[in-house]
Amino acid sequence: MNVRVWGARGSLSAPGPATVGYGGNTSCVELELADGTTLILDAGSGIRELGQRLLERDPGELHICLTHLHLDHVEGLGFFAPLWRAGWKLRFWGPPSPTATLRERVSRYLSPPLFPVGLSEAPAEAVFEDVPREPWRIGSAVIEAQTVEHRAYSRVRPCRRSPPTRDVPPRSHALG
Ligand SMILES: [Zn+2]
Repeated sequence: MNVRVWGARGSLSAPGPATVGYGGNTSCVELELADGTTLILDAGSGIRELGQRLLERDPGELHICLTHLHLDHVEGLGFFAPLWRAGWKLRFWGPPSPTATLRERVSRYLSPPLFPVGLSEAPAEAVFEDVPREPWRIGSAVIEAQTVEHRAYSRVRPCRRSPPTRDVPPRSHALG
């Protein structure tokens, strides 16, 4: 498996000389799995540059796990080139909600007035899935979602050891 970090910053993009070391983009990690599957963790501002790189290959399927939906983890989606090209299939995985589907919640950001173009206008095929309670497979990886304490439901991280935990209401205030 190859791992490439396209964004490692929380809360707010912070470009400039002081952040050259780790970059100024918010959360986005690309995993190239053993079978060639591309799995992307979070869609912070770092996903913009990743999207440009992905256009160098033929369109295909991409998996994007959203750990939670705070803006610093989704703000790059509107600038993710494969979303705006026909032929790509984007399968999003994210935390469930009792009040709205994952597509509906992501669309709150990807729609006017917050974003000039709506998600429904994207030429790519975008599929949204709640993460399962049990471990599941993406390509050659086994993914397991766990709840973490944060001011949001947050359930996605690759893991092979601990059993999944139940959803619990947010208990602590934190910035991701
Ligand atoms: Zn957060």
